[in-house]
Amino acid sequence: PPDTAALGRSTWTFLHTTAAYYPLQANSNQQFQMTSLLSSLSIFYPCNWCATDFQKDIRKNPPDVSGREGLMRWLCERHNEVNQKLGKITFDCGIKNLDERWKDGPED
Ligand code: FAD
Repeated sequence: PPDTAALGRSTWTFLHTTAAYYPLQANSNQQFQMTSLLSSLSIFYPCNWCATDFQKDIRKNPPDVSGREGLMRWLCERHNEVNQKLGKITFDCGIKNLDERWKDGPED
């Protein structure tokens, strides 16, 4: 089975980076495509218990696909849900902190 930690780090990198470069104000097609991407990911994510919980979380908290700031914050909150579940420290979801980590000055 996949290494869930390595898979998780790569997936979060992909998701947060994609959100950082998502349009400031997404048009309806972009919003539709992003909603599909997130929904598909929650179905095909190759860690069954992760996928099930992510589906539940998305159902409770529908994605904010209106634009980059909303999407980044929404993703940060979803990631924090997982952080809490795993007993990790939660991340500051302020836009400045998110941009510093995922847009302006990535650590890796
Ligand atoms: P990660 O949590 O992978 O984070 C990588 C980097 O992202 C951090 O170093 C930090 O710089 C940054 N970061 C941290 N929190 C945030 C945030 N809230 N917003 C923005 N950036 C942040 N693992 C399980 O064991 N069980 C699960 O149920 C589970 N569900 C998952 C569901 C999804 C959708 C995904 C993508 C991953 C899931 N994982 C799960 C994997 C888990 O979230 C971690 O990726 C993994 O444990 C490795 O953790 P890490 O400490 O290396 O950092």
